[in-house]
Amino acid sequence: MKKYNSKINKIRSFALSLVFIGFVVMYGAIFFKNNPILVLIFISLGLICIIGSTVVYLWIGLLSTKAVQVVCPGCGKWTKVLGRVDICMYCNETLTLDPTLEGKEFDQAYNKR
Ligand SMILES: [Zn+2]
Repeated sequence: MKKYNSKINKIRSFALSLVFIGFVVMYGAIFFKNNPILVLIFISLGLICIIGSTVVYLWIGLLSTKAVQVVCPGCGKWTKVLGRVDICMYCNETLTLDPTLEGKEFDQAYNKR
């Protein structure tokens, strides 16, 4: 059985890496300080990455309000379920809101209509 990550965690790590890439790209501008055009390009690219991650973070916020909070049967912690099936954020236990899917192996396809 493949390992899946909670959707919210996945999006969050994507946003985090965007911030990181943004800073690295902006840092790269230092190496081209003799060329103002390149510096400008690098700094704007870095800014775009950081703005993008802010947008993704806002999106996570919106998703979190739509997600259903449940107590995970595996570890007893409160976790959020997004869509029909999701994975516990703490112990990777499969969670479902649909009784007909209970006990079945996790499949991302269940979230599609
Ligand atoms: Zn759990």
